[in-house]
Amino acid sequence: MPIPLFDTMTPLAPLRDRIVAKLGEVAQDARFILGPEVEAFEREFADYLGVRHVIGVANGTDAITIALRALGLREGDEVVVPSLTFYASAEAVVNAGGRPVFCDVDPDTRNITLGTVRAALTPRTRAIVAVDLFGCPAPVPELRELGLPVLEDAAQAAGASLGGRRAGALGEVATFSFYPSKNLGCFGDGGAIATDDDALAEMVRALRFHGSRDKVSFDYVGYNSRLDELQAAILRVLLPELDAWTEGRRRVAQGYGQAGLGDHARLPRPPAGAAPAWHLYVILHSHPEELRTTLAEHDIHARGYYRTPLHRQVAMRPYVDDGLKLPVTYELAATNLALPLSPVMSDEQVGQVARAVAEFARAG
Ligand SMILES: *Cc1c(COP(=O)(O)O)cnc(C)c1O
Repeated sequence: MPIPLFDTMTPLAPLRDRIVAKLGEVAQDARFILGPEVEAFEREFADYLGVRHVIGVANGTDAITIALRALGLREGDEVVVPSLTFYASAEAVVNAGGRPVFCDVDPDTRNITLGTVRAALTPRTRAIVAVDLFGCPAPVPELRELGLPVLEDAAQAAGASLGGRRAGALGEVATFSFYPSKNLGCFGDGGAIATDDDALAEMVRALRFHGSRDKVSFDYVGYNSRLDELQAAILRVLLPELDAWTEGRRRVAQGYGQAGLGDHARLPRPPAGAAPAWHLYVILHSHPEELRTTLAEHDIHARGYYRTPLHRQVAMRPYVDDGLKLPVTYELAATNLALPLSPVMSDEQVGQVARAVAEFARAG
C-alpha cells in the first residue's frame, strides 16, 4: 500500500452521510449567501478559538488582505513577513497596498522570531505577519512586545495552541484558510478572520461586503469575499472532529521521533509550551531530493516545500534589497522534506517511513 504525503479522504469517510444530509438542508433552505450556516459556523469557530469574533471570507489569501486593510494599512506601509512560507502571505500584503519586508526564521521552529523581525524593522513598519509554519505556532506573544499589530497567519495551524491559547487567538487578528488540504478543510475555497477587537471585526464585516455595513451605503472600497453557505455547512460537521484529528497528527509526529528518525535527519523542535497542529512533518536533510526519490521507490510520498523562498520570486523583486541575506531561510528551502502525515496514519506506516529513511542513510 502506498503511503501518501497526506490523506484528506479517509478521515472524512465516516462523516460523508452527515455532510450530504447537511448539503441537502442548505439546498432546501436556499439562503446561499451569508445565511444561517455561515453565522452559526462563525459563532462555533469563535467559541472553539476562544475569541470574540470570527468572520468568514472566501479564502485564506483574502483573509490576510482584508485583515491588513482593517488594521489601517496604507499605501507604502511596510509589513514584516517571513520569506519561507506560502506565497499568499506576502502577496496579500501587496494587494492590501503594503510593501512586504522579508525576514529570516529559526531553524528549529521554522518560524520568525523576535530577533529576525527586529532586523527587518524600519520607521515605516506598520504590521507583522507571523505565519504558524507547518502548524507550529509562531512566538506571537513575544512579537507583540515590539508594539506593532501582529497578524497571525494561522492557515496551517487550526488545532494548534501555544501556552494554552489556541493558534488564531494569539495576536491582534488571525487568518485561516479552509482549502481542502488544510487541517480544517472544506470542499472548495474558504477562509476566516478571528479577532477579539470589536471595531476591527466590524471593519472586516464591511470590507467582505463591498465596504458596506448596511448593503445600501458604501463607506469603503472593499471586496466581494464571503464564506459560502455550503462550505460553512460542511465546516460545521468537521469542526467537532478537529481536536481528535490533531491528536492523531501528534501521535504520528511523536512516533517519528521515537522511531529514531532524529539519528538521520534534523527534526522539527517546537518551542516550549507549543502544541503544534502538524500540518506537515518537515525534516531537514543534506540530500532531500535523493531521499525523496528513494522513498518514492518504497511507495512513500514525500515533498520539499518552498524551494524558492519568497524574496527570490520574480513578483517580489520590487520589494527586495540587493544585499538581503536570509541564511536560515536559504538552508531550510534547500534541505527540507515533508514526510507523510495524516490523522489516520498507522504506527506500522510510521515505522515503515522511519526504516526507509534509516536505510537511505546506511546506503549513503
Ligand atoms: C494556504 C495558505 C494561505 C492561503 O490560503 P488560500 O485559502 O489558499 O487562499 C495563506 N498562508 C498560508 C501560510 C497558507 O498555507
